[in-house]
Amino acid sequence: MVALAVSLITLSELNYAPEALEPYISAETIHYHHDKHHAAYVNKVNELIKDTRYENMPLEEIIRESDGAIFNNAAQVWNHTFYFDQLSPKPQKEPSGKLLDAINTTFGNVDAMKARMNSAAAALFGSGWVWLAADRDNKLYIISKPKAGTPLTEGLTPLIAIDVWEHAYYIDYRNDRAKSVENLWNVIDWKVVGDRFNSVSDRRSGTKR
Ligand code: MN
Repeated sequence: MVALAVSLITLSELNYAPEALEPYISAETIHYHHDKHHAAYVNKVNELIKDTRYENMPLEEIIRESDGAIFNNAAQVWNHTFYFDQLSPKPQKEPSGKLLDAINTTFGNVDAMKARMNSAAAALFGSGWVWLAADRDNKLYIISKPKAGTPLTEGLTPLIAIDVWEHAYYIDYRNDRAKSVENLWNVIDWKVVGDRFNSVSDRRSGTKR
């Protein structure tokens, strides 16, 4: 019998050139953040799950079922893929459609939502992530999580991830986390965020995807 192939967790490819997000995020930051930090989480989680019950599990399932080092590295892989995927050098600049309606209902307007997320990013002590997430009724939440934390473990659908680990901004912004988060909005692609939001509604209404 041929042994079953082990499905390794892989490093996601970027949808843009490393320098494409300048001047908001430099090629050097992208190089370290994606090719070094993100890659290290991928390598580490593959090493940790080898010969365990997590070995052939989908990444999201590992995140829901594990804790400790396996959770930390698996969640960091997922979080970083999600983070890099939402960025674009030619983003849709504003939310539209049902997502815009939900933002207006929950926060008043888009600027108020951004301000709330900026404050949450400034207030998060140490390393972590600030998330915009939706529940199955399309209600929106801003969630701060230390370390590798993700709304996936709360049954929520993540829409936007702000990485507030120093490695995400220190090369370009040194200690100025607030400025880095403010500038991140220039490269957030609301088309991607809208598609993520619509996938919640589609699942709820039973639309086949
Ligand atoms: Mn990071």
